[in-house]
Amino acid sequence: DLPNSLDAQLRRRAASVIPGGMWGHMRAAAVPEGYPQFFAGGEGARVRDVDGRDYIDFMCSWGPIILGHRHPEVEAAAREQLDRGDCLDGPTEHAVRLAEKMVALIPHADWALFQKNGSDAMTTCVTLARAGTARRKVLVAKGAYHGAVPWCSPSVLGVTAEDRAHLIYYTYNDVESLDAAVAEAGDDLAAIVASAFKHDLAIRQQLPDAAFARAARAHCDRTGAALVLDDVRAGFRLNLGGSWENVGIRPDLAGYSKAIANGYPLSAVTGNDRFRPAAEQVFVTGSFWYSGAPMAAAVKTLEILEREDGPARLAAAGERFCTGLTEAAARHGFEVTMSGPPAIPLMHFADDPDAKLGEAFCQQALARGVYLHNKHNMFLSLAHTDAVVDEALSAIDDAFAALARDRSADA
Ligand code: PMP
Repeated sequence: DLPNSLDAQLRRRAASVIPGGMWGHMRAAAVPEGYPQFFAGGEGARVRDVDGRDYIDFMCSWGPIILGHRHPEVEAAAREQLDRGDCLDGPTEHAVRLAEKMVALIPHADWALFQKNGSDAMTTCVTLARAGTARRKVLVAKGAYHGAVPWCSPSVLGVTAEDRAHLIYYTYNDVESLDAAVAEAGDDLAAIVASAFKHDLAIRQQLPDAAFARAARAHCDRTGAALVLDDVRAGFRLNLGGSWENVGIRPDLAGYSKAIANGYPLSAVTGNDRFRPAAEQVFVTGSFWYSGAPMAAAVKTLEILEREDGPARLAAAGERFCTGLTEAAARHGFEVTMSGPPAIPLMHFADDPDAKLGEAFCQQALARGVYLHNKHNMFLSLAHTDAVVDEALSAIDDAFAALARDRSADA
């Protein structure tokens, strides 16, 4: 980066007043060198960095953008409430409209409550499972991400063993390991928590195996524990009724966030009537959990996804992107596979043990105006039309050509 670019200036200022220059998953240290840290705006399938460079965006803000940045109908719905006041002495009518919408869309849901982050929603699911069963043990898949709070953070810094005292780990999609974890929990099993699909960082993604999902449901039915689906990342991209509708399994509790309001801050927990008394009695709250504009945005987002057959269109766009990228790689002598649902794909280079090839490819794509990620899954939106995907694929072809030239120069 040019030393006097606005991005570089902001990084220098951030270095002294923001820990590490930036906190959390959005620090540019998590993407290859040369990626911008700071952004100025977004429109449709594109984002613009603070130095005015535009990129076709395949991260979609790491999930929240599902219709495209600044979708006009969602912006209008949010704006209408913002103009009247967003943060009031209680919720707006949109809370009821949104709960009604979710109960109508999601077969397992008899009620919904709203929060801000996915971590809030997943923590509340665990609290409700324990409150509703009066038990303690919670089964979590090894390597799964459910948020950045002590019970589930991928980092153990600042976390005590006591924070995780009643967690038991199993292997996703492995019925035997789930059976063993259930046996270990004995009569103290409060919940089995599972992600919509296996999307651990930097390893090949796996869709949920139907036999695994059925086993989880059967264990919960037999023991009275709660089956908790973490639909924070996948929610509304794969199935508007909840991602495990695709394998025919309904959870008791589920957490959503990311795409629910097309970028406005909101998360949700849905549950069935079995957990309604617990949801009525626990104390879960937050200063900003009732603000109106994000809920207005969410109602509109869900209406549009329904009207536009969102999951089917996202799958088609994802297929076009994944097939095109894999073919472009092959044309230039690289083997790239995409794993997981095409709408939330993860890229994987063969013969790339230190991930340097994937990184170099992403840098070449970035230089040609395409924002990709080599270790985290990417996200498509309804703004990723055929024309936009094809424009990206043409740049991606050039990026592979440059990568091939660099490789033969090195050889
Ligand atoms: N669960 C899953 C599956 C997620 O992907 C995330 C966020 N990446 C979370 C929970 C936590 O959500 P948040 O970052 O909004 O707290």
